[in-house]
Amino acid sequence: MPLFARTSRFMRVAVSSNCGPCTLEYAHGNEIPDTCRKGGVSSVSLTTAIDGSSMGRYTSQVLHSSHEMRQLVAQAHRVGQSVGLVPTMGALHRGHLSLVDASIGECDRTIVTIFVNPTQFLPGEDYDRYPRSVPADLELLSEYPVEWVFAPSVEEMYPRRFSTYVHPPAVSEPWEGVQRPGHFRGVTTVVLKLFHIIPADVAYFGHKDYQQSQVIRRMVEDLSLPITIRVCPTVRDPDGMALSSRNQYLQPHERNIGLSISQGLNLATDLVAQGERRASVVLERVRRVLEEAGVTSIDYVALVHPDTMESVSTINNPTLAIVAVWVGATRLIDNRLIG
Ligand code: AMP
Repeated sequence: MPLFARTSRFMRVAVSSNCGPCTLEYAHGNEIPDTCRKGGVSSVSLTTAIDGSSMGRYTSQVLHSSHEMRQLVAQAHRVGQSVGLVPTMGALHRGHLSLVDASIGECDRTIVTIFVNPTQFLPGEDYDRYPRSVPADLELLSEYPVEWVFAPSVEEMYPRRFSTYVHPPAVSEPWEGVQRPGHFRGVTTVVLKLFHIIPADVAYFGHKDYQQSQVIRRMVEDLSLPITIRVCPTVRDPDGMALSSRNQYLQPHERNIGLSISQGLNLATDLVAQGERRASVVLERVRRVLEEAGVTSIDYVALVHPDTMESVSTINNPTLAIVAVWVGATRLIDNRLIG
């Protein structure tokens, strides 16, 4: 048994073992063994992070210029380093940090982008009130060795006379595509721009925005983009609520209502585990959970094929349950693989 837990991030530790003091570097996810590497001597007695005064504090370089950002990526590639990209709109939480963690585990350099992308918000949506907190974001990131944070201005991304957009793939059309027409055009356009500014090796997205991840995967394949897409599991609060920057909008009683989304998804999982195969029955039960909790309105509750996002009527294969609801003025989405 290793003496210490699996590391949650890259860390450098000073180790005092019975063959003398030494310094070991542990990559993300490695087990810190109870022996030092010099010869299998047991009884590591001390570990402390030695990157600065407190455990694992790092300072990311913040860039606003696409040109400078691209040059740094090119430099990293020139010396053979791989680059991971985590696109975000900021207001970071543990969900975003799990993507950062995944990138650090796989890539030599990690870049987080923070950009509240105006083109993916529809008129009347929450673009103006979307939480913006770059200093707080940097504070959260300081626990992770993220080399660069790219935080461009709107003018940097959309200069005057900007008028070229991506036409998103067919998988963007149902569900979010119906409820938020134009949303995925903005998403694909900004993500393609980010992939050009930051030609990373791997880009990390969350399962939480499942349809978005499928849209990006399709775009990457259709446009032959030389980047690997990883989709990481949804991070939840202990009670099951999926983390989202928009949870900040919720009053405590609204959060309770929002919790019915994951409860509904859990019920769907249970029903299928008990042998229910009729989508209509499962959907009816999930809707009832949402309505009884008091959601303001339901944009959709559906069971879909995870590749095509097309509705299924019988649950025989892996199926994705997807939900989008309004709780007061806040729109929440979540999903779960069932069956
Ligand atoms: P956003 O800042 O909302 O645009 O999200 C940036 C990335 O973080 C997207 O790929 C999201 O899918 C992902 N993400 C958001 N919430 C979560 C979560 N709870 N767990 C995992 N990934 C998430």
